[in-house]
Amino acid sequence: MSAVELPEYVQLQRIATQGQEWLSMSSAGRVNGGKYEFDIPLVTLGNPDPVLPAIGFFGGVHGLERIGSQVVIAFLHSLVMRLQWDVLLRQQLQKMRMVFMPIVNPGGMWRGTRANPQGVDLMRNAPVHAQNGAAWWVGGQRYSRHLPWYQGALGEPMQTEAQALCEVVRSQLLTHSFSITLDCHSGFGLTDRIWFPFANCARPMAHLPEVHALSAILDQSQAQHQYVMEPQSRQYRTHGDLWDYLYTPHNSASEQVFLPLTLEMGSWLWVKKNPRQLLSKQGIFNPLITHRHNRVLRRHLVLLDFLTRAAFSHEEWLPQPTQRQDHYEQAAYFSDRGRLFQIDRGRRFSVIADESRVRASRVGNIAQSSTINLKQAVQRSWM
Ligand SMILES: [Zn+2]
Repeated sequence: MSAVELPEYVQLQRIATQGQEWLSMSSAGRVNGGKYEFDIPLVTLGNPDPVLPAIGFFGGVHGLERIGSQVVIAFLHSLVMRLQWDVLLRQQLQKMRMVFMPIVNPGGMWRGTRANPQGVDLMRNAPVHAQNGAAWWVGGQRYSRHLPWYQGALGEPMQTEAQALCEVVRSQLLTHSFSITLDCHSGFGLTDRIWFPFANCARPMAHLPEVHALSAILDQSQAQHQYVMEPQSRQYRTHGDLWDYLYTPHNSASEQVFLPLTLEMGSWLWVKKNPRQLLSKQGIFNPLITHRHNRVLRRHLVLLDFLTRAAFSHEEWLPQPTQRQDHYEQAAYFSDRGRLFQIDRGRRFSVIADESRVRASRVGNIAQSSTINLKQAVQRSWM
């Protein structure tokens, strides 16, 4: 069986050579693609000390969504180029860890399929069952590997690629007291979304206050950004989400903070400019025209850099214990509004929260009765 190299893999090797003074590249696993074998590349840089923060970037979980891989690789390329002269970046890397896994599903990418070569959708493959049901079909199915969103057979171990991703997260990121991950995908829709757990249920994640505080500093520092930040379950619920699986053992009692985020780039943003793309599978999930491809990369590189800085400086913006409840109520309340009032969909949740601060300041403080209303809204929201 011979090895074959994807263009993205060749590009990554070139970057690794250029940046060999700063990074190391290895294989997180080897997958059987039928006719060919593929390595799952892993790049690490920065300080591995577990007391320091860490950030991980993932792409290509769905082989068809090459733009996710390309965003992650473009960011790594920019870091390697800057390391030649950027003293501030060098200092940053002395005090944090960075992990890149940009081609999680190389076999699927080679074949041009969402699933891996075994027909399994890796983002439906974890042993997580949506207790109250998942979106019909899209949320995962066990009928046939020849149909999309196949979870794999019940009771079988996770696929090699899914195991490799989990192993990298556990050994490289969850060893740190603070970590953020960003898994880059593209999907239908006109909006770029940043999802956080859970995908399998509407229960709020333990670190909802921390995610809300992160969205607040994103709004403050990138005032023109276009992202909507929300739990994935607000769009649709799924079985087997890898990030639900990795996040679940964590709870608010733990000192450790782990914020797994998913970037879902709205592919209609480029399809509407060039509807002929609808005629090709690649075209639905990837911008095909060079200037549009470059614009998509530029647009998201700002987010990847922001998250890296946010991880580095997390002690400056993470809510104090006395502030957590306030963040929680704002986040949960406005998520609830978003669900009740469709017009609020597509609005960044901390922009709505800002409006609440205005309203709260007009009445002097958040009155007792409105606090009770907020709590009732929280409870309703997650039932
Ligand atoms: Zn995807």
